[in-house]
Amino acid sequence: MSLATASLTSLRQRLTSGEISATDIIKDVTTQIDNRNGDIGAYLRWDPELALAEAAKADISLPLGGIPIAIKDNINVTGQSCTCGSRILAENYTAPYDATVIQKLRAAGAVPYGRLNMDEFAMGSSTENSALGITRNPHDLNRIPGGSSGGSAAAVAGDLAVAALGSDTGGSIRQPAALCGCVGLKPTYGRVSRFGLVAFASSLDQIGPLTQTVADSALLLNHLCGVDPRDSTSLDEEVPDFTANLGQDIKGLRIGLPKEYFIDGIHPGVRAAMETAIKKWQALGAEITDISLPHTDMGVATYYILAPAEASANLARFDGVRYGYRSSTATNLMEHYLQSRGEGFGPEVKRRILLGTYVLSSGYYDAYYIKAQKARTLIRRDFEEAFQKVDLIVSPTTPGPAHKMGELKDNPLQAYLEDVFTIPVNLAGLPGISIPCGTVTEDGKQLPIGMQIIAPHLQEARMLQAAHAFEVG
Ligand code: GLN
Repeated sequence: MSLATASLTSLRQRLTSGEISATDIIKDVTTQIDNRNGDIGAYLRWDPELALAEAAKADISLPLGGIPIAIKDNINVTGQSCTCGSRILAENYTAPYDATVIQKLRAAGAVPYGRLNMDEFAMGSSTENSALGITRNPHDLNRIPGGSSGGSAAAVAGDLAVAALGSDTGGSIRQPAALCGCVGLKPTYGRVSRFGLVAFASSLDQIGPLTQTVADSALLLNHLCGVDPRDSTSLDEEVPDFTANLGQDIKGLRIGLPKEYFIDGIHPGVRAAMETAIKKWQALGAEITDISLPHTDMGVATYYILAPAEASANLARFDGVRYGYRSSTATNLMEHYLQSRGEGFGPEVKRRILLGTYVLSSGYYDAYYIKAQKARTLIRRDFEEAFQKVDLIVSPTTPGPAHKMGELKDNPLQAYLEDVFTIPVNLAGLPGISIPCGTVTEDGKQLPIGMQIIAPHLQEARMLQAAHAFEVG
């Protein structure tokens, strides 16, 4: 069995017992990439020589010693390119520094290995918006892996990586994890430093782990969190050992089911999977309560004002002057900007920049941007009230399983609606995890379904304890 198929936790045991070495793992992961990446397209680039050299030096006594972690292509690693799935950064940009999460992973002994495909600048839910290639769902190569961290989810679920990092602004870790059948965790906003993550929407972005198991998620999260002087939004809060509560029972845990998340539009297979899951929660001793999050229907509209507004400001830096793509035909400064950006950005990114500049322009600012900020407050309050009554909230991660490649390509509005269950969690800054929850059969293929568990601010440990109980129960 390839070591790439083993969990992080089990690999750590075998490393410390001396049964395997860190270079054995890199070799097996490389073989898997060589054999399968041509079909799946999860990785954009990988450098086995570098990884082998780093693995040979890895200190196995450290908590993640010798474990390769694959990295979404919007997180900076010194000396490597960081394309964000965009033509504008594909050539001409080499990261001059390590993101804080990369520094932390290295300090824990892990080896960052390989760069994973994504929707351009993390805008999308299918990875079809990447300018650099297609990523396919390992369960059905005709279907999307989800996005924007589609490369991360496909690599982990397709056994091309032990574990990966992704980023989540409106669902980009949880949604692809659900559609590919792995575990994806978005931490509380501010838990993990964003320093070195290329910004999409700064008030929403968080980095998090995609893993094969909940225990792996907890272990990896232990080495991502913490206050960082280089990210003023990072939280100066104690970071517990997220693995400590795993294995404890969840008797008496109060779980809320928001009625707005069990609407008619969801796929019958998703509904059936959730019904089975609810019985399982009860069998594990949880108390199930119906709750309401009354402003849920504002979530998608609110997000698609605020996220593009922030993106339009964040992406202003890509002007071809200091780094990135520069048009070769411009004859004056204005042409230089227009052509470099016009040729460098793909259609979805342009749509977001247009939307964002529109809602921020004078005359529309109050009508759209300020109004969306108010709606965001209402959505946050919904959760605060719900968490007076329950400990955790459970919902489907997505309304349906992975759709076919190209199905929503010309229907951006429908694609935006797919984020309906994940977006409110980002707007409220809460932690959320997606774990596998059964399958539905389409075209003779078994397609994974994800269940989302949402916790109050900073309660990742409680969320992971419940997710683990469900996974092993
Ligand atoms: N699908 C959402 C979007 O397109 C979320 C993306 C994300 O979380 N990065 O914006």
